[in-house]
Amino acid sequence: MSDETLSNLMHENRRFEPPAELAANANVTAEAYERAAGDREAFWAEAAERLDWGQKWDQVLDWTNPPFAKWFTGATINASVNCVDRHVEAGRGDKVALHWVGEPADDTRDITYAQLLDEVSQAANALTELGVKKGDRVAIYLPMIPETVVAMLACARLGAPHTVVFGGFSSDALASRITDCGAKVVITSDGGYRRGAPSALKPAVDEAVEKVHAAGEVEVTAVLVVKRTNQDVEWHEGRDVWWHDVVGNASKEHTAELHDSEHPLYVMYTSGTTGKPKGILHTTGGYLVGTSYTHWSVFDLKPETDVYWCTADVGWVTGHSYMVYGPLANGATQVMYEGTPDAPHKGRWWEIIEKYGVTIFYTAPTAIRTFMKQGSDIPAKFDLSSIRLLGSVGESINPEAYMWYREHIGANKAPIVDTWWQTETGQILLSPLPGVTAGKPGSAMKALPGIVADVVDDEAHSVPNGSGGYLVLKEPWPAMLRTIWGDDQRFIDTYWSRWQGLYFAGDGAKKDEDGDIWLLGRVDDVMNVSGHRLSTTEIESALVSHPKVAEAAVVGAADDMTGQAVCAFVILRDNAGDGGADIIQELRTHVAKEIGAIAKPRQIMVVPELPKTRSGKIMRRLLKDVAEGRDVGDVTTLADSSVMDLIKAREDAAQKA
Ligand code: ATP
Ligand code: MG
Repeated sequence: MSDETLSNLMHENRRFEPPAELAANANVTAEAYERAAGDREAFWAEAAERLDWGQKWDQVLDWTNPPFAKWFTGATINASVNCVDRHVEAGRGDKVALHWVGEPADDTRDITYAQLLDEVSQAANALTELGVKKGDRVAIYLPMIPETVVAMLACARLGAPHTVVFGGFSSDALASRITDCGAKVVITSDGGYRRGAPSALKPAVDEAVEKVHAAGEVEVTAVLVVKRTNQDVEWHEGRDVWWHDVVGNASKEHTAELHDSEHPLYVMYTSGTTGKPKGILHTTGGYLVGTSYTHWSVFDLKPETDVYWCTADVGWVTGHSYMVYGPLANGATQVMYEGTPDAPHKGRWWEIIEKYGVTIFYTAPTAIRTFMKQGSDIPAKFDLSSIRLLGSVGESINPEAYMWYREHIGANKAPIVDTWWQTETGQILLSPLPGVTAGKPGSAMKALPGIVADVVDDEAHSVPNGSGGYLVLKEPWPAMLRTIWGDDQRFIDTYWSRWQGLYFAGDGAKKDEDGDIWLLGRVDDVMNVSGHRLSTTEIESALVSHPKVAEAAVVGAADDMTGQAVCAFVILRDNAGDGGADIIQELRTHVAKEIGAIAKPRQIMVVPELPKTRSGKIMRRLLKDVAEGRDVGDVTTLADSSVMDLIKAREDAAQKA
């Protein structure tokens, strides 16, 4: 086995053919791959025809100054018009755009496309009144309420790039994002509902603006406040205005200007799983083409009949591409939910699916593993028979989590699309096509039509089937990031400098015997054990395949004998209790049996929680600090920093024992 590529150890033989009916009526069939490979630009031009443009493009792709791409050059378009106005003009104004579900019981709102158009127009007029002009940046710090979508679309309408900051972030995180992108206006609310109680947002904005102003570089001239919880708020006269005053009283007439295809649409900061978040810039035309086409093809969306639900928070790129821009451009009817999956009870999501007859459901492995931990009797209490397609995003879905999702949520019939992409890529790049691809549990399968991906070794040579290496993209794609906001050099250094002409995503992957792609985790997390390069994902998946385990995180810790040793942290399923006296030995043996002795963890710790980012991704670098006995590093993007104290205490106790 070579030292250069990732060792390819796990084998998975289960296959699931697309359901016959879905395949027979699929939006996209196998011919798309060939057609796209024959003429990629013509393929994306055809996808672009699904949208409404002003001026048509001179050129599909200008790649004369790599890595700075321009898509649909010379064309003009308005993202907000494509997401709203055109559906109303086509006579679909009465169609529900959003079934919004608040966290408190019975707090719901159905919003049609016609109503959405009125509100977006009012918000655009109000922002103009507040001095927002084309090119100005607007920060949005809101819970999952309809006004968030309205605010984003109003910014897009004006050509004022938005930066949405997750409502759970601290005032520091908000301040650094406002400063980094130079936002002039902040849109927020008094608060939102989380876990059954109102939680305040406005105080964090007040603090953040104070910090921004103290630093003296950026001036926030207005704070627009939605009344959601009726909490008391401190009011800054001359700066703060209520949404219901200025938006509520604004005109519902607004004529949208067309913007250049390359006009900035938004800046989104990455999750920060591996380090300091990067401000990723997305522009308008290509982004809308990439997201709307993939939303239609990967989810096989039938806008007339489907009810779609993406559970991602709008503060993440998934919320941008697959809750706002992709689905609305496609005229979908969707669910938007304000709260947490367990409020007021652990079956809340399934109750919502039953109530609205959700047909397409898109969530993250971290949520699926939590449900696995809680037990399948919870979803079993609800009628989930409307579901015809399931999606997963954010991390590798462990084969056992895939099987659980398929059986308990998808009734063993709904296909699962495991979608690989990043904040940077803007759109899904690797995924099965539900009417074409026979799914394999744990594999994102292959590049979508029009996307050229590969797995390469250290010298950028394509690895043969059955081998592992680095996932790269060989050709530009429409929704790709254009740069890191304000830092072209960091953009080049981060993504384009490892190999000439290749975009390096930072993820390890392997090709199986059929050439299908499996994500293996971040290359920074790859372990080197006695000269074998082992993937975190495979060992974690082996652990999760044990019936007592719900979730696992694996890191490599320095080891005198082997260079690095495998250290695992596991969460047990609720019905496994404490796992029994021999649990550690049982799990070590299990990994050896599933993958091989080389992958057997030196050490396994049973923990109640794992450190995760706010978007639910496991932060392995912190666990590595623990495993190597270091002080835990930067925890600012951690969802709950007390988790690390808990784990550290257990580790210290184990050391003493
Ligand atoms: P940062 O770049 O700041 O460290 P991040 O990479 O976690 O944060 P995101 O852009 O939200 O920020 O996440 C993209 C990453 O998520 C991918 O690079 C990959 O590691 C992981 N990922 C997303 N979808 C999948 C998937 N379907 N399978 C495996 N991994 C996935
Ligand atoms: Mg990343």
